[in-house]
Amino acid sequence: MADLLEKPVHCPFCDAPLTLLVDDSAGSQRYTEDCHVCCQPIDVNVWVDSDGDVSVTVEQE
Ligand SMILES: [Zn+2]
Repeated sequence: MADLLEKPVHCPFCDAPLTLLVDDSAGSQRYTEDCHVCCQPIDVNVWVDSDGDVSVTVEQE
């Protein structure tokens, strides 16, 4: 069963507040998601540590 976490971030291009839905069952991952506001491609890095804590960072691609 997929468990989606809501992670608040800010767009690295336009600084708009965004909520990313992260599937932590997929483990650490990296993908690109377009900003809903400025449509720029955001490089999303998801890191799941050994305790299951999920951290998300975003960068300009
Ligand atoms: Zn943006």
